[in-house]
Amino acid sequence: MRRALIHSAIPALLGLALLGGCTRTESPDNTQATATPPATQAPATTSTSAPAVDAPEADASAAADANAPAVVAARPAAPVTLFRNVRVFDGKSSALSEPRNVLVRGNIIENISADTIEEPTGEGATVIDGNGRTLMPGLIDAHWHALLAGIQMPVLMTSPMSYVQLVAAHQAERTLMQGFTTVRDLGGPAFGLKRAIDEGLVVGPRIYPSGAMISQTAGHGDFRTLYEVPRLPNGMLSFSEREGISAIADSPDEVRMRVREQLRMGASQIKLTAGGGVNSPYGDIASIQFTEQELRAAVEATEAWGGSYVTAHAYTTAAVRQAIAAGVKVIDHGQLIDEPTAQLMSEKGIWWSLQPLIDNEDMMPMRDPGMQQRALEVFRGTDNAYRLAKKHKVKTAFGADILFSPHVAARRHGAQLALLLKWYTPAEALKMATADNGELMALSGRINPYPGRLGVVEQGALADLLLVDGNPLENLRLIENPDRNFVVIMKNGRIFKNTSSR
Ligand SMILES: [Zn+2]
Repeated sequence: MRRALIHSAIPALLGLALLGGCTRTESPDNTQATATPPATQAPATTSTSAPAVDAPEADASAAADANAPAVVAARPAAPVTLFRNVRVFDGKSSALSEPRNVLVRGNIIENISADTIEEPTGEGATVIDGNGRTLMPGLIDAHWHALLAGIQMPVLMTSPMSYVQLVAAHQAERTLMQGFTTVRDLGGPAFGLKRAIDEGLVVGPRIYPSGAMISQTAGHGDFRTLYEVPRLPNGMLSFSEREGISAIADSPDEVRMRVREQLRMGASQIKLTAGGGVNSPYGDIASIQFTEQELRAAVEATEAWGGSYVTAHAYTTAAVRQAIAAGVKVIDHGQLIDEPTAQLMSEKGIWWSLQPLIDNEDMMPMRDPGMQQRALEVFRGTDNAYRLAKKHKVKTAFGADILFSPHVAARRHGAQLALLLKWYTPAEALKMATADNGELMALSGRINPYPGRLGVVEQGALADLLLVDGNPLENLRLIENPDRNFVVIMKNGRIFKNTSSR
């Protein structure tokens, strides 16, 4: 679903014309950042909205990367943080724990105890008095677009990619400061941003990148102008293909090649568009895209490379069933499927990555009446989809899928999660966005960029933590105001915000 395409007041064809026309001569130059190391110290970070931001150092995960970090920080002692007197939401339970002390060493939760834990001392040691506040896992978004969420479509169409990348870096910090410590990126050239975040050069969440979304000709990810066909052998690629936003493939062999290109770049899972969408450039939402053989080629290439999986954009019963038959493990959207298909997903253990797309103030009306009608159809489907997912106990993931909406991306990310209150208790919604989404991230198998347990507060898990002023299991809407209610934000054992002493 193209949430922000719904927001967008620009007629799609204008957007397409811009896509094809105005940014051709631009080339990405974000690699320039590596040429001039800013300093020998760990890079300082600033945040206008979160005053107490510590300078992060390179994640341990970056050290494992074949590419050397651009800036080598002096290595301080492994950070140790003690949270005293917190009540824990562990990502799974429906109630908070009794008061606990929680010790984080390096990037791992080392100890959770009702007994006193000795205070760490020395360099890199921090003690945080929880005063009975809630310690919970960092939030995870399973359907995100790091490069496309926080920029308006006409700006994307008319700006150099180097600028687009910097806007994305700014948005990445806002994503983390809203408590989202991990995102699964489902389309867009996020590899460089991910690397800079992992190296500590830029503040942002962990990113599970898909790279370019793979689409058939005329499919949901074919952003070429109407007359940009036929594609010539050895002809120039279209803008969105050159920049890695989408990749067009027709035939199992071409799909395999495009999949392997994304895997080569570091994709942790592969996204294919297996059916139409609300704002598809061409075709209807009911169109079935790719053949089963094409989808299977992607599944086989992805599983063989890293034991990872294909996630498919699909709304309708027919598109979802074809994708499942081809071995796809995750369906993104699915708002228009029928009940037997929900049952099938449950039986086969297929993940349903579902977005609370409803008609509210975050959705701007569309000018195109056809798209408006399809949007309303999906909005109606959202309610049915959540009911089916609950009834048949389908493994369900939360994702916001915000696109081209700087205000919503920067301020209203948590508010999208709070929309789940229409169908779920606060505990169920938070479990989905923490422990359950963490389980989905682990599906990346051998190419999981952040191996370790995510989305839980347990001994041995990765230390992505939020200290919340209040009890989100009673009032989920606390997450709508992270600046006020998230007192501490920790990712990978590093404190990025700490206002606990005020
Ligand atoms: Zn999306």
